[in-house]
Amino acid sequence: MTTTEFEALPALEGVEPRLGTLVMKFGGTSVADPAKIKDVARRLVEARTAGNRVVAVLSAMGDTTDDLVRLAYEVSARPKPRELDMLISVGERISCALAAMAIHDLGAEAISLTGSQAGIVTDTVHGKAKIVDVRARRIHEALDQGRIVLVAGFQGVSTDLDITTLGRGGSDTTAVALAAALGAEVCEIYTDVEGVFTADPRLVPHARRLAAVTYEEMLELSASGAKVLQLRSVEFARNHDVRLQVRSTFSDAEGTWIVDEEDPVLEKAIISGVAHTDCEPLYRVRRIGPARLFERLAEANVNVDTILQVSSDEIVFSAPVEDRRACEELLGALDVEWSMRDDLGKVSLVGAGMKSHPGIAAQAFATLGGIGVQPEVISTSPIKIACHVRTEDVPKAVAALHDAFELGVA
Ligand code: ADP
Ligand code: ASP
Ligand code: MG
Repeated sequence: MTTTEFEALPALEGVEPRLGTLVMKFGGTSVADPAKIKDVARRLVEARTAGNRVVAVLSAMGDTTDDLVRLAYEVSARPKPRELDMLISVGERISCALAAMAIHDLGAEAISLTGSQAGIVTDTVHGKAKIVDVRARRIHEALDQGRIVLVAGFQGVSTDLDITTLGRGGSDTTAVALAAALGAEVCEIYTDVEGVFTADPRLVPHARRLAAVTYEEMLELSASGAKVLQLRSVEFARNHDVRLQVRSTFSDAEGTWIVDEEDPVLEKAIISGVAHTDCEPLYRVRRIGPARLFERLAEANVNVDTILQVSSDEIVFSAPVEDRRACEELLGALDVEWSMRDDLGKVSLVGAGMKSHPGIAAQAFATLGGIGVQPEVISTSPIKIACHVRTEDVPKAVAALHDAFELGVA
């Protein structure tokens, strides 16, 4: 059985709600080229002209972060995490500086800030740092001067004064943390799809946009691979009551609200969606007790997902593909017998209604059986059923579950 352990969050004490403060985050596709940056600039100026105090969080242009990571590995097989963060944090700065220039050309005032200049303080874990404080004085001052503030997403400065990054997709978390710290009325996440869908719309073209989804469901969807919101951004939004909306950069469509369970906009569907990851490595370890193994994995900052004690002497666990190197190095250094499989992905059915509706698991397994897909590992939470299946079976498993539970039908 899996329990998704959500992390403690910094206390942001004494934040006064500021009417008219708006945090707008634009992802990589939304700022992919100069024309798109000018469009974003126009949108920000419109929001400012409408009377809002506007803070924009931008991602790196298009595939810039991937390109920078690739560049690092062309130079070194094992780049030092500190230097890797120095390098990959640059993409977001480029977007912000360019957007500030475009805003000036539209006759408005803007200032671009790095995460560090914006007061985003993190712990010292390079590559997946956690925000421990937001010192927003400089942002408030710039807003008071009527400026649009552009903050480089995905990064901060550590308590050791080094530049850190927040993990892939981390600009979402920058945006939500700023919204919480500034007492913003709403945090808008602009992306290349029209909201949160019942499945990845790239995989299931008839997936349906959800008008609203609960924090709990979104946490499970994000933890299970729906990368439209980084997991930590949802945790932050839930714990600090940030009103969060996912919507399209390229249209004015409604988008999806992330809300709490009592919110009247909820449809109260039994199942909200199917999330997937194409690859989630599975490790099999012998000759070590769970206490020692998971203590060592935690020290190595590995985010363990599924855990199974298969026998008194065998533990199976999975961890995200980003943690593969750390897992392999750790297991290699321990006096254990271990093996790893990387030919599996994971398909997860998520829905708050599962708690009170028996038979969902039976229907899910029957559906997978019907298309000849045999789950290798099954794990559950009160609102999720997850199956590790072979990577090549992931697309058809997602499609079959989506159809079996009629998720495309409003
Ligand atoms: P951005 O660059 O704007 O942060 P991401 O690529 O990180 O955008 O996230 C958006 C992508 O998330 C979409 O293009 C879509 O393919 C993917 N995605 C996966 N699952 C879902 C889902 N359930 N709903 C919406 N998008 C999803
Ligand atoms: N540019 C970073 C990434 O590609 C952060 C983000 O886009 O949220 O992961
Ligand atoms: Mg993203």
